[in-house]
Amino acid sequence: MNKVNIIIILLICSQFLNTGEVNAGEVNVYSARKEALIKPILDKFTEDTGIEVNLITGKADTFIKRIEVEGKNSPADLLLTVDAARLVRAKDKGLFQATNSKILNKAIPVHLRDIDNQWYGLSLRSRVIVYNPNKVRANELINYIDLASKKWKSRICVRSSSNIYNQSLVASIISHHGIEQAEIWASGLVGNFARAPKGGDRDQIKAVAVGVCDVAIVNNYYLAGMLDSSQEKEITAAKKVKLFWPDQRGNGAHVNISGAGVLTHAKNKDEAILLLEYLVSDKAQRWYSDINYEYPVITNVYDHSVLKEWGIFKMDNLALSLLGKYNTDAVKLMDRIGWK
Ligand code: FE
Repeated sequence: MNKVNIIIILLICSQFLNTGEVNAGEVNVYSARKEALIKPILDKFTEDTGIEVNLITGKADTFIKRIEVEGKNSPADLLLTVDAARLVRAKDKGLFQATNSKILNKAIPVHLRDIDNQWYGLSLRSRVIVYNPNKVRANELINYIDLASKKWKSRICVRSSSNIYNQSLVASIISHHGIEQAEIWASGLVGNFARAPKGGDRDQIKAVAVGVCDVAIVNNYYLAGMLDSSQEKEITAAKKVKLFWPDQRGNGAHVNISGAGVLTHAKNKDEAILLLEYLVSDKAQRWYSDINYEYPVITNVYDHSVLKEWGIFKMDNLALSLLGKYNTDAVKLMDRIGWK
């Protein structure tokens, strides 16, 4: 072998060494989380592991239908979405397969994951009460159930019943109190609405800030996002309201998750599991609170100033699979009592 040949062989070898990433594999993700709320952490995963992530974002229910239609030919390995009820829906349709990851099962508390290891909670949010401190004293607030009492007549804002966060809240009330009691409660709550439901959670916070209502039920991260906003208007509105952790002497505040499951026809199952495991690492869990103002599913790895200020709260430890189990009952119930 002459010198030139040796150099060529060395060059080829060094190229292979430098392109280790090419062999590290890939994972295809359908994400119902907006790109800005997930892509940065997926990029970090690629940086750390060399595994490429091909991300498609869209609406959860559209993805569920799409995965069903694509069947065996689906290119997707992982479905990322918010709300346990949706993850249960995907499981019930046979879209997920079980993973056998000790890391996931050890990191994520039992009530935040599927009993058959088909989906896992990756970040946590709470549906909290916000109130106008000029109209309401914190010690007047108790829990969700109390919001149906007469003292709140025409004082409550909340978004529509088509929203899954409200469906899951009602499903949690059904789980704790039964359908009959939940219906009496929901009927009282709707009777106390200050206006017909409209807008998203941020709009409810703004409505409290301008005095349209005195209290509202919203997800915690919307308030944090407004406090941290680049828009002066949002900050001003958010500063006019206060957060109340519901039911701290009872079951605890209702929580829900963003989560994911490995799909039945995943071609890159190992990479998909590696990604899930990465998302419950300390680094990723901290990121969820830094960027999305959500809580980690593993304990105490957050230092965002707004979350720190709100302090530690007691969360409802209800198995989140029940939110899926009672979703249809919740939707029917809300329809019956006229929650628009
Ligand atoms: Fe949301």
